[in-house]
Amino acid sequence: MSETIIGIDLGTTNSAVAVVKDGVPIVIPVDGQPTMPSCVGLDDHGALAVGQPALNQLVAAPESTVISVKRQMGTDTILKVGNKSFSPEEVSAFILGRLKQAAEDYLGQPVTKAVITVPAYFDEGQRKATADAAKLANLEAVRIINEPTAAALAYDAQSSQNQTILVYDLGGGTFDVSLVVVEDGVVEVKASHGDTQLGGDDFDDVLVAHVSDLFSEEHGLSLEDDLRAQRRLKVALEHAKCRLSEVPFVKVQEDFLKGEKHLTTEISREAYEEMIETYLQKTFTCTHQAMEDAKVVPEQLDKILLVGGSSRTPAVSELIENLLGITPSFEVNPDLIVAMGAAVQAATLAGVKSQSILIDITPHTFSTSTMETSMGFPNEICVPLIKRNTPLPCRKAEVFYTMADNQNQVHVTAFQGEASTPEDNSLVGDFMVQGLSPVPAGNPLVLDFGLDLNGMLAVTATEKSTGLTKQVVMDTNSNIRTFDLEKARDNIAELTEESSVGGDNLVPIQTPTKDINQAAITEAKQLRKRAEALVAGGVEEDDKIEILELVNQTTSAVKAGDGSTITRLNQSLSDVLFYLED
Ligand code: ADP
Ligand code: MG
Repeated sequence: MSETIIGIDLGTTNSAVAVVKDGVPIVIPVDGQPTMPSCVGLDDHGALAVGQPALNQLVAAPESTVISVKRQMGTDTILKVGNKSFSPEEVSAFILGRLKQAAEDYLGQPVTKAVITVPAYFDEGQRKATADAAKLANLEAVRIINEPTAAALAYDAQSSQNQTILVYDLGGGTFDVSLVVVEDGVVEVKASHGDTQLGGDDFDDVLVAHVSDLFSEEHGLSLEDDLRAQRRLKVALEHAKCRLSEVPFVKVQEDFLKGEKHLTTEISREAYEEMIETYLQKTFTCTHQAMEDAKVVPEQLDKILLVGGSSRTPAVSELIENLLGITPSFEVNPDLIVAMGAAVQAATLAGVKSQSILIDITPHTFSTSTMETSMGFPNEICVPLIKRNTPLPCRKAEVFYTMADNQNQVHVTAFQGEASTPEDNSLVGDFMVQGLSPVPAGNPLVLDFGLDLNGMLAVTATEKSTGLTKQVVMDTNSNIRTFDLEKARDNIAELTEESSVGGDNLVPIQTPTKDINQAAITEAKQLRKRAEALVAGGVEEDDKIEILELVNQTTSAVKAGDGSTITRLNQSLSDVLFYLED
């Protein structure tokens, strides 16, 4: 058997090691985690600490700890670590050595060869420094490959199709964008652009500045010269930032941040994404430039690959989609894709067959229905929470708002499918949340979707102001059992005159209260059609306002499943229409 060659992503902020096992790239955990901080330090006793243990001492012992050494590769910089001095190659060798050791522990055999990735913009000097670092770690760098190339390899190791791929890599300290062309299995970087001073670290700094200001305003105390407080904030806010990729709000609590004063605040995803918008805009300027350099227009792109931890920020994929009209691929974990691609290349060099990454993804989008207003009329639309092709397990939360004043309940729905309207998707389940606070419209509710490997969807609704929560777990596979569904339909058709009730909806999930409301809802829909036709034909402004008000109220009542109110509003609207239609 030939010797196993490992694949290494030697990153500025985080590194990772992977290997192809039984034809599939596997990421090898280091200290129990898939990625390892690219951090090196000397502890109190002068012993070497690498990865998470080194990062843990960064706040307490900054003079004995180094990070981001990749920026100095190929230069003569001397890095002071405690009472010792190291070259960038030496520090990188410590990182590579730790990864090599993790791989040996995992494989149960010695490892001497690796494929190591570097940014496409690295020059020959920087590449040689990387190979030298490997030598110092007793590893032969059998090949140094570009990070975007590795990403493309990981994504589609076997594809024989020619493809043009945009690789958007937003990491901790740097941003790189590359146009990669795969032709007959050969991957070529056509153009690369980027910013070596733009990444997640900047986003952390923006948050630290924002929160420091809030703290100063509240307590009249400046944190500017307080290095300890600044570092604590950086750790706490980086964590909060990552959480914001999944939830719409995070609480930040740091007790005794300065003297007796505590920090307590909340950050919303919306506010955070606004804070980093200029940075994101910069990445798009670079993206345009790279496309121009490669003479590629958006229509020629077959795929957009998101790489780097910071590309998990929801605004990134949203803005890319708006900009280029292509949904970026979520299939492969952005933190691990480069290491996996290095492993694929390593396996090829070792003569081992490998296939594209096998990962569990959701083949469907999961959304909830909500109201949108178009030309004054409310429309029910589906807002995706978990998008198609997201790796499993996954969790995503968004905030929604009540529509009516004093609205004390909401109807929460979960749909599966790619359509933008509920009618064209299939209902996975629904439930009511009752007992909301009597406040004006706009009461925020956080809706959280969690999908596990078995297809169980946990839907949680929480009233933000009170913490009132309701969770229902739904089996998304139940939709697949069409046989049972048909049987249920037949059953119902036999028993009821009105076999059209429910239509294409999932009859078994409809609650009895809703069946009673169904006639009122049907009438409301018909009245709304009449109202739309009337308004489109032109009516007095006052009448239009009255009609829209009634339609809006009816829509809220339908959402709330409030049958008697729907009936009452139907009557009122019917009267108004009758009067105006003549
Ligand atoms: P690099 O390639 O520079 O070594 P990574 O690709 O590992 O870096 O990205 C590290 C950055 O990604 C850090 O700034 C980290 O805070 C950020 N990050 C990691 N996970 C998330 C997340 N879920 N949401 C937003 N940012 C994240
Ligand atoms: Mg990286």
